[in-house]
Amino acid sequence: MNLNTAPSSERLHIGFFGMRNAGKSSLVNAVTGQALSLVSDVKGTTTDPVRKAMELLPLGPVVIIDTPGLDDEGTLGEMRVEKAKQILATVDIAILVVDALKGMSPQDEELKALFEKRKLPYIIAFNKADLLGSVPDSKKNEIYVSAQKGSGINELKEKMVGLVKDRKSEKKILADLVAKNDVVILVTPIDESAPKGRLILPQQQTIRELLEIGAVTLVVQVNELSGAILRLKDKPKLVITDSQAFKEVSAIVSEDIMLTSFSILFARYKGDLATVVDGAFRLKELRDGDRVLISEGCTHHRQCKDIGTVKLPGWIEKYSDKKLSFSFTSGGEFPSDTGDFALVVHCGGCMLTENEMKNRMEICRLSGTPITNYGTAIAEMHGILKRSLEVFDKKE
Ligand code: SF4
Repeated sequence: MNLNTAPSSERLHIGFFGMRNAGKSSLVNAVTGQALSLVSDVKGTTTDPVRKAMELLPLGPVVIIDTPGLDDEGTLGEMRVEKAKQILATVDIAILVVDALKGMSPQDEELKALFEKRKLPYIIAFNKADLLGSVPDSKKNEIYVSAQKGSGINELKEKMVGLVKDRKSEKKILADLVAKNDVVILVTPIDESAPKGRLILPQQQTIRELLEIGAVTLVVQVNELSGAILRLKDKPKLVITDSQAFKEVSAIVSEDIMLTSFSILFARYKGDLATVVDGAFRLKELRDGDRVLISEGCTHHRQCKDIGTVKLPGWIEKYSDKKLSFSFTSGGEFPSDTGDFALVVHCGGCMLTENEMKNRMEICRLSGTPITNYGTAIAEMHGILKRSLEVFDKKE
């Protein structure tokens, strides 16, 4: 294992789509300079995409996703489109590979319409351009290439860089909220649900960003928090806590010190904070018998007293004073329609790409289901949501 690699959720996810005869896999190999194993050529396993994390110059750390052919055996009709939709939800940019001799198939057109509907940046790569008499001029998001001859591959990569630049949001976890030399305290309980020997990804990423800014970072557990604050000459600018310790931490941190949680910071970084805050307010409106979906973005080993499956359902029933019916999903599972649920409560989604998290929120929006996240819901249930959002109001 290379300990210097970028986390998967921070890599650019590039999906290659197309008909089998378009030379999609050859183009993937030409772009990456290596042969990815082609599950899509093996009968019976055609619905599984092949994913590979790599450094792809000049793009940097990426995950290449070679998707099953739109016309593969075993993935018929709606299933193919359904599968493509699922994969689309996880990618940041899409490359649609089309046989330049045949032009766009109805499946290609359908997929292109989906890219546009989802505002997913895409390039149409017309492959086998060497077999054309003359190569037409490429439009903005089109390119003529030959995977066989290696022509147009660098230009395709340049176009990909262009898409990334367009898409690159200057989103920060908290770099716009604190400044150089500000003291920030992170409260990271090491309890039975914490992974052995390491901090979880949101904590690692937050520390990394604080180091980049030049802020002074203290990392403590709840028991050491008041001592740490007392030892400081000046008040800390901000305290960031694990959501589960919100209540205890808010009792320790005086009102003149800003307090928020990792989940709330990541709700803003990955998705849409206003939507999850609105979702948290809906907790009060739940009625007896309502269905609530609790969804986690990864399949980490569930510990006893797991926050998603045990603590949250208990807290939500107590807070709403209603008998509710809970469903759970984890990892890549997420319903394509959440209309049966009165509320979706999602984890911070640190292992999901920004696009994937936004896609889940979009599904909820289209289904008319409010969505909140763990940290925001917990802050609301503990009566400290307003306080944990103040850090954004005081942003200079
Ligand atoms: S993806 Fe969700 S459940 Fe998995 S570690 Fe991140 S916040 Fe926790």
